[in-house]
Amino acid sequence: MSKSIPVTIDCNTDSGWLSVAQARVRMCDSVKIIDGFERVAIRASLNRILAEDVISPINVPPYDNSAMDGYAVRSADLPKTGEATLKVSGQSFAGTPFEGSVKAGEVIRIMTGAKVPAETDTVIMQEQVKREGDNITITAIHQQGQNVRYIGEDIQQGGPALSSGKKVGPAEIGLLASLGIPEVTVKRKLRVAFFSTGDELRTVGEPLEDGQIYDSNRYTIFGMLSKLDVELIDMGVIPDDRSQIENAFTTASLADAVITSGGVSVGEADYVKETLDKLGEINFWKISMKPGKPLAFGKVNDAVFIGLPGNPVSVMATFYQFALPALRRMMGQQDIEPMVFKVPCKSMLKKRPGRTDFQRGILSRNENGELLVDGSGMQASHILSGMSRANCFIILPAESGNIEAGTLVDVQPFEGLI
Ligand code: AMP
Ligand code: MG
Repeated sequence: MSKSIPVTIDCNTDSGWLSVAQARVRMCDSVKIIDGFERVAIRASLNRILAEDVISPINVPPYDNSAMDGYAVRSADLPKTGEATLKVSGQSFAGTPFEGSVKAGEVIRIMTGAKVPAETDTVIMQEQVKREGDNITITAIHQQGQNVRYIGEDIQQGGPALSSGKKVGPAEIGLLASLGIPEVTVKRKLRVAFFSTGDELRTVGEPLEDGQIYDSNRYTIFGMLSKLDVELIDMGVIPDDRSQIENAFTTASLADAVITSGGVSVGEADYVKETLDKLGEINFWKISMKPGKPLAFGKVNDAVFIGLPGNPVSVMATFYQFALPALRRMMGQQDIEPMVFKVPCKSMLKKRPGRTDFQRGILSRNENGELLVDGSGMQASHILSGMSRANCFIILPAESGNIEAGTLVDVQPFEGLI
């Protein structure tokens, strides 16, 4: 499964930089799907990843049934021209099927979801008949087989209903229930340890001294990981201190993955590098993206290590673009491509050629209901409020310079990213 890709040099970048796509492929190819699964009741499987294919024990629908309130008819009785008058000889309601047989010239009063009697094959909407006493009159407008939902047309007995790697959502829970399946096998939850590094960081609740800031990355990472439904191990803030960093990594390595923020830019990373050289391995990547140039990737004992940059917006951008697909791969989730589509930009977008930009944008609709996107204000990588105002990334290719208003640009909505 591990196919390695050659490192090619991005256009307009220095040698040794990785493009966003290259870094993502490298990371995803070098992580393994975790072993371990559990049987859970279907409600408890919400947001979990199926660990095996689900084969349907029944046909869905389990019998031919009516899509309308009306009359079940033998198609041989449908008039080719003019009209036909047929006799109502019984009824089939949802949960109370008609028992008996329908003879030539007879119809059955039928309700939506009710079983279509074996001798009939067509349903006529009640609005399209003239009823007088026990007789209905129909015209020549009907097609054989109309308004019938056929046995097994949704899912066939013995056929695949859901495949391994599928994330269970509301539709999947409903589908499992519709098959009468009370429990499923899901992947065990991925364990993810995370901490922030930096002497300047304080945690909410603590007073701020001069030169200190509050640690926000652990909160955004908490938020993003929570949506991913993994087991969280929040290890707090670790100061830039050799032994504390080593202790933190040793403890964190009991998880499947360790995510840190800060301390991966050149000069800053000495203790992280020393520790991981000893406990595992570390590679420092320069990624041709903005925000989020520096990224560290490696192993701590048996755990995957992802070292995100320190700036709050860089953390979110690199989490979404790299950590998220890698964690999903580890969780055994089927590949899912985040939605990206083209939308005209409302005003000029500033950009320097060189790196792929993940600008923060606001996607909205104009008075004609057409989508357009605008920047969310200051684009520097410490402006977390811009990330909060935004509802999408505007992805601008590495080589492009300023983008004129009205140009079609790639947009990746935040909603649905996780
Ligand atoms: P670093 O990569 O450690 O040099 O950090 C880059 C920038 O991000 C610096 O301005 C740090 O103060 C800031 N930073 C690092 N970690 C955090 C954090 N957990 N919360 C908020 N800002 C941070
Ligand atoms: Mg730091």
